[in-house]
Amino acid sequence: MTHLPPSTPLIDRFGRIVNYLRISITDRCDFRCLYCMTEDMTFLPRAQVLTLEEIYTLAKAFAELGVKKIRITGGEPLVRKGALELLQNIGRIDSLSELVITTNGSQLETMAASLQQAGVKRVNISLDTLDADKFKAITRTGDLHRVLRGIQAAKTAGFKRIKINAVVLKDRNHMEVNDLVRFAVDNGIDISFIEEMPLGVVNRHNRADAYYSSDLIKADLARNFDLVASPEKTGGPSNYFTVAGSQSRVGFISPHSENFCSTCNRVRLTVEGRLLLCLGNEHSVDLKQVIRNNPGDMTMLKQTIIDAMAIKPEKHEFNIHEQPVILRYMNMTGG
Ligand code: SAM
Ligand code: SF4
Repeated sequence: MTHLPPSTPLIDRFGRIVNYLRISITDRCDFRCLYCMTEDMTFLPRAQVLTLEEIYTLAKAFAELGVKKIRITGGEPLVRKGALELLQNIGRIDSLSELVITTNGSQLETMAASLQQAGVKRVNISLDTLDADKFKAITRTGDLHRVLRGIQAAKTAGFKRIKINAVVLKDRNHMEVNDLVRFAVDNGIDISFIEEMPLGVVNRHNRADAYYSSDLIKADLARNFDLVASPEKTGGPSNYFTVAGSQSRVGFISPHSENFCSTCNRVRLTVEGRLLLCLGNEHSVDLKQVIRNNPGDMTMLKQTIIDAMAIKPEKHEFNIHEQPVILRYMNMTGG
């Protein structure tokens, strides 16, 4: 095995540098959002799930390979026992510039301040509607007011650039996009609208019927807001606009109407330890086996990660009109 220099960058066949890792630390969740899960989800047995120590080891290996940003997600990351300690440990990895989290907000009321102290730089909070009944219908179990209190707690804790993520579904919440932007502006936070992706077979929800494109959202917003295209690129799939006269930015994540794969800088680690090279393909490498079969062997782990770059696909193959070819749900993947 060759000796690796300390900051070997992760580069794929298409010259894309991978410097961003998203980790799903649990497949479990207190919500059952209809686009993400079935109502009667079965979750993974514990033995199949990475331990917190294994997740930390993997995060460290990626950081040593040049990854600068790690997003902790799930499932709902904050329902995993020990999540805070894990965040504290990852937050202490020197070479990392950004530790961020995506959450449904249900635990933020009590955890926001501790997350800030743990070194989490930014929080993305999912919020599809401001109507309590609709919120219950979309999340199946969620309580809107608790999430709103969580957003306030994140503001009070001093988080900057808090961002709301809203998946827009025709006839469910598409008529609320203006209200959601108004909410973001009033609270001095950002918002991204997401086109639904066909991950996993979900019951009682037709994805093709619910499709509402980013262009339609932009047209709806243009009636009330002056959106100024922002040159800012975060290296991610969002296209950003600034709401004139405010601090807030509006992003659009449009996997169907606008392909963003050519600038992809990220890979994902599932809670089972599978390194997924693309959200919309099944190309993956089992890192759990590598660490369980070779405990303590960082060189072997890092070489496996470097070699995995060779199978990063060029682009996703989403087609909302067909049965999903990706049978993995978003909670496994770490959206
Ligand atoms: N539970 C946390 C949350 O909801 O923010 C983190 C995990 S969740 C899987 C991450 C993001 O993925 C959320 O913003 C959610 O709305 C989004 N998401 C889930 N399923 C999706 C799908 N099928 N298409 C597009 N976005 C999806
Ligand atoms: Fe849970 Fe997030 Fe999936 Fe909703 S989107 S079910 S909150 S993991």
